[in-house]
Order: sequence, then structure tokens, then C-alpha cells
Amino acid sequence: MVKNLKDLMKHFSDESKCREMLIQQRWNGSPVCPYCNHTKHYVIEGGKRFKCANQVCYKKYSVTVGTVFEASNIPLTTWFPAMYLIASHKKGISSIQLSKDLGVTQKTAWFMLHRIRESLKDNHSEMLGGIVQADETFIGGDNRNRHKSKKHFDETGKAFDIKAPVMGAIETGGKVKTQAVNAVTKKNAITFISDNVQAGVTLVTDSNHSYFKIGKKFEHVKINHGIGEYKIGLFHTNSMENYWSVLKRGIYGIYHQVSPKHLQRYCDEFAYRFNSRDMKDGARFEMTLTRLQGRLKYAHLIAKPIIEDNTPFIQTDDEI
Ligand SMILES: [Zn+2]
Repeated sequence: MVKNLKDLMKHFSDESKCREMLIQQRWNGSPVCPYCNHTKHYVIEGGKRFKCANQVCYKKYSVTVGTVFEASNIPLTTWFPAMYLIASHKKGISSIQLSKDLGVTQKTAWFMLHRIRESLKDNHSEMLGGIVQADETFIGGDNRNRHKSKKHFDETGKAFDIKAPVMGAIETGGKVKTQAVNAVTKKNAITFISDNVQAGVTLVTDSNHSYFKIGKKFEHVKINHGIGEYKIGLFHTNSMENYWSVLKRGIYGIYHQVSPKHLQRYCDEFAYRFNSRDMKDGARFEMTLTRLQGRLKYAHLIAKPIIEDNTPFIQTDDEI
């Protein structure tokens, strides 16, 4: 396992070493055709690519097909340290910083960061159990303190605040899950909690009415902050509130401002680090590489790329 960035650069100093690692992490060392799942293959181009041995397929593929690295002309020797850096910087890393660290343009760094965030998405992990705290927060907002170039304007040229709501749930002592939503509503609370929380848990929320209907499906503890109540017995919403402050410190401190369009990816990035907080940086990096296979399985090749290559460069998202 790599111990630090220097170690990583030494281990993965050329493309073939990076590919070997990917083949190991993605396929357990034995290539599988991403088009038909056939396991017999021919090694071609000196090991750079493979040719499927299934006679009705016969397609050529490389280990990066269907992963975040696909169709990018950025070498793996640049992708690997980028993945290591984003996974190990506790508050994230801005595209400006990453561009300086790796010697790529800010636009390239921005694009890489979004692609990496996409692979950090928690698509299929276990639902939360035990005692689960649910709460919401709002990211962004106050235009008053913003430089003119960063304010949001409506069609008439009037500045307005964008506050993007995020719903979250955390298992006491365990994992967090977060979802950017259009509004905090009963309906969104039902969807979010049903998708992420096991039956039979004790649900702890504040007295926001949005959680009352879904709360009927659980033992529901409501903490009424309005009357100065912060704890009922052992129950509280402090873990979720602490998580929000980590998320906000990261987003405001490193990324400064995030458009609602990209907010979910930032949420995924922070949740990924939080949920692997007990791992060493090297182990987290290796885990990040294994998730590429999950992406292939679920997003699959027919799905349209989540970040289109022609995504305009939106500097306000994380500029310094
Ligand atoms: Zn095939």
C-alpha cells in the first residue's frame, strides 16, 4: 500500500504500472470484456489493450473503458496523484491548487476533480441503521458579502440569493448520506429517508414538519430546538449538525462557492472522505480505484457521460 504522495509517484511512475494496478483493482488481475463480460481475451498492443475472444464480440478494449479515465488524454500518471490528493485532503482541493500541484491547466484540473467526484458517489452501500439523525442544511446564499462578479442576477439584472438545500442522515457513530434537493419538503424527505434508512431504526430530527410523515414509519424522536431543547435522553442531532459544519467549512473555505448544478458531487466528495475517516490515505486511494468497477456495472457503457466533455468551464465553482 502506498504511504504518501512521494511513494505513490515512485510506484506509479509510468503508464504501464498504473494500468497494472487498475487491472488488479478493477478485474482482480484478469481482464473482463466491458462489452459482453467474456473473460477470454488476447493481449494486444504490448499489453496496452485487449481483444475479446468471444467470436460475436471481438471488440478491443483497455482497462480504462467505462471508467472515469475513459476518453481522456490525461495520462494515468496524472490521474493517480489527483485521486490520491482529493481523497486525502480533509477539506478537499481546489482546481487552482490541483493545477499547480500537477502542472496541468486549471480547466483540466477542474474537469478531473469533477470526474473523480463522480466515482466517489456512494451508489450501493448499506442503508443506515441503529439510531439515525436526519437534518437539512442550506449551502450558499448571502449575496451581500459577495464580490459583484460572484453575485447571482435574475433576468432583470437584480441580484438574488441562491440557497441550495441538502438533506442528510447519519448513523450514530457510522456513515453519513447526503442528497442535494430542490427544496426541503415532505415528499423529498420521504424519498430520501426511504432510500437511505433501514426499517426499524430510531429516527431523530428537529421539529421540522417535513420529517413528520416519514417519521411515522419509525420510532421518531423530535428535538424542539425552538424551545431550547437540544437533547432528549441519549437522542440529539449533533452529529448531523457537526457534519454540516465540516461540509460548509470545506465548501466555503476551499471551493468558495458551488453552483447548485454541481452541489451533489461536492456532497459526495465530502461524504466519501467522512465515511472512510478510519482508513489510511493509501488504503483510501486503493479503495477509490476499486470503485471504478462498480461504476461500470451500474452506470454501464450505454449511459451518457455524467459530465459531458463540452461542459463549460464555470470558474465561480471553485475559484480562489
Ligand atoms: Zn466482448
